[in-house]
Amino acid sequence: MEQARTKAADEKFCESCGEIIKIRAELCPKCGVRQMPPSAPGKYASYENVPWYRRSGPVSAMAVVGAFLFAPLLWAVCVIVLTGDVYYKAFDEKGQLKTWWVGNKVAAVILMILQLVLWIAIFSAQG
Ligand SMILES: [Zn+2]
Repeated sequence: MEQARTKAADEKFCESCGEIIKIRAELCPKCGVRQMPPSAPGKYASYENVPWYRRSGPVSAMAVVGAFLFAPLLWAVCVIVLTGDVYYKAFDEKGQLKTWWVGNKVAAVILMILQLVLWIAIFSAQG
């Protein structure tokens, strides 16, 4: 009877009742509890086996690069912020046209510099 409790390679224990069931089983035949889908068993035994383009660092980097690849839009926003002291018609209490907070300009300049650096890096890497 001990033999029956030995888990084969294609079996696992039910998450609810502990019964030995098929590893791909969606429901435990004994208790009927739905099993978590097998999380890609053995695809990556360790983090060393994960390809670099799936690791957190490069993926984050690619996300940043991707954001900057929409640079024309970003650039336009920066230009608007830089030149747009009086971008919209609004008056303060003294009747003067409202201007934007200077921090916006600083942020825009930093963004534009970052963008330039990134573009240079991308194009020099391709060339
Ligand atoms: Zn069960």
